[in-house]
Amino acid sequence: MRILKKVIKEEKIRDKVYCNRCGREIDIIFPEHMGNYLSVDKRWGYGSVYDGESHSFDLCDSCYGEIVREFKIPPSEEN
Ligand SMILES: [Zn+2]
Repeated sequence: MRILKKVIKEEKIRDKVYCNRCGREIDIIFPEHMGNYLSVDKRWGYGSVYDGESHSFDLCDSCYGEIVREFKIPPSEEN
């Protein structure tokens, strides 16, 4: 037999997001998975230029557009 009790768990959620490139606060209006900004969490592998480092940043949709316009090959809509 198991006796259960109610507990309250603390959870960290994104309260505010700032664009790392322009510094502006991004208005979070959509859920994270389909939001209006790009969120990157990258752990670099050993042997890469950033050997073992972890980087994370967020970009607003405007800065994202400016960066991808410099790509020789534009991002694809789907794979
Ligand atoms: Zn920006």
